[in-house]
Amino acid sequence: SSLQNEMSETLKGSRFRWLNELLYVSHSKEAFKEFSQDRSLFDQYHSGFKSQVQSWPINPLDIIIEELKSIKQRKKIADLGCGEAQLAEKLGKQHEVQSFDLVAVNERVTACDVSNLPLKDESIDITVFCLSLMGTNFMDFLNEAKRILISNGTLKIAEIESRITNIKVFIEEVEKLGFKLVKKNEKNEYFTLFEFTKI
Ligand code: SAH
Repeated sequence: SSLQNEMSETLKGSRFRWLNELLYVSHSKEAFKEFSQDRSLFDQYHSGFKSQVQSWPINPLDIIIEELKSIKQRKKIADLGCGEAQLAEKLGKQHEVQSFDLVAVNERVTACDVSNLPLKDESIDITVFCLSLMGTNFMDFLNEAKRILISNGTLKIAEIESRITNIKVFIEEVEKLGFKLVKKNEKNEYFTLFEFTKI
């Protein structure tokens, strides 16, 4: 019945919000352990994530994909917290994209905690975090991005507006790690996009 459908949708929504909250308040080591042990958590999270993204006028991932499409040289890109690795799917021919997430939902994804990546120092041109700075230790993720980036490499971040309480402080903290802000886009109601260069 439609009531049953409605209840099932509501339940899915609450399950998503709970898992989303859990990822934000946990250390990534814990999240990696939990999600590795029970992959259905990831499926529940992602089915909710998809409906949330659909409710937005625009998906930040599409903006990032368009920006990367316009780069003519072939780049080595690491998509960190890639979800279903749509970036690799859409740009895999043009660039060399490697995709990482807590769970490998398809053959494009390598399962790992992005605070500890199986990549060599200074081996990547562009790192992307699209809505994936999720652990209490997310600064470790950014440090790890710095380690794998070549000098002058690019760090792209898209985050939910409400996730970043103070944009100025956030930028200062990232710059302290050894990055310089290149551009920021706050035009959207729901999220902010940042681009930094490793210095
Ligand atoms: N970037 C994708 C998915 C965003 S959802 C997109 O824009 O469509 C956020 C993703 O970050 C989730 O898939 C979650 O599992 C992942 N994530 C959060 N913390 C992580 C960590 N420590 N290591 C790897 N992935 C992580």
